[in-house]
Amino acid sequence: MAKKTAPETDSAPELSFGGKWLYAPSREATDHVRIAARSELFVGGEFHKPKSRSYFATVNPATEEVLGEVAAAGAKDVDAAVQAATRALPAWRRLSGEDRGRYLFRIARILQERAREFAVLETLDNGKPIAETRDVDVPLAAQHFFYHAGWADKLELLFPGVRPEPYGVVGQVIPWNFPLLMAAWKIAPALAAGNTVVLKPAETSPLTALLLCEVFAQAELPAGVVNVITGDGAAGAALVRHPGLHKVAFTGSTEVGKEIQRALAGSGKALTLELGGKAAHLVFEDAALDQAVEGVVRGIFFNQGHVCCAGSRLLVQESVHDLFVDKLRRRMARIRVGDPLDKNTDMGAIHSAPQLARIRELCAAGEREGAVMHQSACALPAKGYWHAPTMFTGVAMSQRIAREEIFGPVLAVSTFRTPDEAVAKANDTAYGLSCGIWTDKGARILWLAGRMRAGVVWNNTFNRFDPAAPFGGMRESGFGREGGAQGLRAYVRLPGGLAGA
Ligand code: NAP
Ligand code: MG
Repeated sequence: MAKKTAPETDSAPELSFGGKWLYAPSREATDHVRIAARSELFVGGEFHKPKSRSYFATVNPATEEVLGEVAAAGAKDVDAAVQAATRALPAWRRLSGEDRGRYLFRIARILQERAREFAVLETLDNGKPIAETRDVDVPLAAQHFFYHAGWADKLELLFPGVRPEPYGVVGQVIPWNFPLLMAAWKIAPALAAGNTVVLKPAETSPLTALLLCEVFAQAELPAGVVNVITGDGAAGAALVRHPGLHKVAFTGSTEVGKEIQRALAGSGKALTLELGGKAAHLVFEDAALDQAVEGVVRGIFFNQGHVCCAGSRLLVQESVHDLFVDKLRRRMARIRVGDPLDKNTDMGAIHSAPQLARIRELCAAGEREGAVMHQSACALPAKGYWHAPTMFTGVAMSQRIAREEIFGPVLAVSTFRTPDEAVAKANDTAYGLSCGIWTDKGARILWLAGRMRAGVVWNNTFNRFDPAAPFGGMRESGFGREGGAQGLRAYVRLPGGLAGA
């Protein structure tokens, strides 16, 4: 691979959500990605044509071009994948933790070596900017494999006094907003703990999970330890219901999560659910306001707002509301929306036509219900699915834009006067995934953190992820954690029925 130099500082984007520059992909970067005209199912360590004989197209949301056809798994394909995982289980769980760790280290290193390919492919299939896939999605996915590789031979330390056993065969279903990263979050801890896996990526973003299968083959991971079946919601439904599974891990919408919970009731399968969110982002009058503006922008416009933990409800202390909103509007005007392959792009394409329709519907509801809409005046490309960065002010807690997950670049702004009112408004939601607090007072952060009904509380930052930090929700945002020691607990069968909790 040709060595690329890091970009000049003055050409670096003002809005870079990630950390360091790893390399500078450009338009010709697409030449380095091979996309098969037809992608098959990865079962038993090899790619197989689907028994269903059917395929579906995956498109680039920024251009609406078809990238390739992908196998649509039917019930027989799901069964074949579960059987392959079942056959691989005895040898994999018998392997020493040290040896399982070796495979995970190898996967992590190959992922890093092929980072550029993964970043470009993810950007093409998902629509998110290359600056994010390059600096966030791919490096974090590799970190998850590294992190869990380190735990594989230390499980006894995590669960003292018990012999940590894997559940067995795990079915995993993931959404389209972080396709590679969600696959890494699911697969790495499952393998570290000695489980085997059948993973179903989202229908609209299957390509990087399939490329990951190439990495598994390259790392010589034993056949059947991970199987990837592509398909639609019906394939996901068939997978989670398969009697051969011992555990199901799902990330996606609250609606589907509830359906899965109902379907699994009484089945004896362990379950973890990572679902939707409607996070409150609190800004107090004593906060460093310019930094808070950056945090709020990162909170809602990162990944086009397709983020379960997005800071979609901004609650600003009344005394600084006008000043803060003015700063935000000026900052929003500088967000560059456009070609996701351009390294200077801050916000890429909306992932799909249905998602764009939902965002538009909720914006229309916001206007109808009396909130005031501000949109940055950016030129949007003619082809593809696009939505300008949007903010609503004067939002009442009862309005749909304050209650429903929009899963797009739309911020709903309200005010509060006192810390008690801030807590009451922040917790006035059915969800409980994340929240953010901006204040200069350490004591206030601790007071608030203890009162927020959310699984993740960010203080003077937002949307920061680390494999060592447990992530997950409460209430309608689901249960179970991913990352950290708590995340491994979801893949270890513990005595006393602590199934994946
Ligand atoms: P979704 O419709 O629930 O889909 C998620 C996954 O489930 C996809 O692979 C989907 O397949 C599959 N699926 C659909 N119906 C199913 C069924 N009846 N049984 C089993 N699987 C089924 O969610 P989405 O719209 O793709 O993703 C957005 C949602 O995910 C948002 O609500 C977001 O908050 C949530 N999310 C949560 C987290 C978290 O960690 N808490 C992280 C990311 C996203 P298809 O793709 O073919 O429909
Ligand atoms: Mg796609």
